[in-house]
Amino acid sequence: MAKPYRAAVRQDKHLYGIGIGSNRRHVRHGLPQGVVEAAIARLEGDFGLFDASSIVLNRAFGGAGRDFANAAVILESELEPREMLAALKILEYEFGRRPGKRWGPRVLDLDILAWDGGAYHDRHLTVPHPALFDRETALLPLAQIAPHWRVANGPTLAQAADFLRRRKPKA
Ligand code: ATP
Ligand code: CA
Ligand code: CA
Repeated sequence: MAKPYRAAVRQDKHLYGIGIGSNRRHVRHGLPQGVVEAAIARLEGDFGLFDASSIVLNRAFGGAGRDFANAAVILESELEPREMLAALKILEYEFGRRPGKRWGPRVLDLDILAWDGGAYHDRHLTVPHPALFDRETALLPLAQIAPHWRVANGPTLAQAADFLRRRKPKA
């Protein structure tokens, strides 16, 4: 009897919006901007990117605080959200990040800002990222590359970015 033919089953692919941040020098990649550039190149190699935003630099004033650099990318992957989080944490580690204070200085921070599966929540992971719609450093780069994306059936990212800019008190 002929062997039953088993088609190669390809898992569904998911789209992810990943936020990239750095506010600490790296021994080889240099300033935060160089770290973010290197992280984008690495994600490109590992996943293949649909798009990458420009890198936004925020310079610290007068020696107080740190310079930081942010960007966002869109990538496609078969990984489920928890697997993606694990992959990103490995990458952070490879860039020299060691567990430390939340919001403290770090060589590389990779957050899952959004994915195409709607809302996901467990005790280790919440997607969309809880601060996505409140932080310009996260929202604006993602809105730059995916302005029409209605994350979790909300407004488009372009609309959300517009709301956030208006909400921000003028300096
Ligand atoms: P914030 O999450 O406010 O941007 P952070 O990026 O500095 O702060 P981390 O120390 O990098 O915080 O991460 C703390 C934990 O947040 C992670 O170990 C992870 O389990 C959890 N987490 C929850 N939701 C997400 C998400 N969408 N992306 C990345 N990590 C998340
Ligand atoms: Ca973060
Ligand atoms: Ca993080």
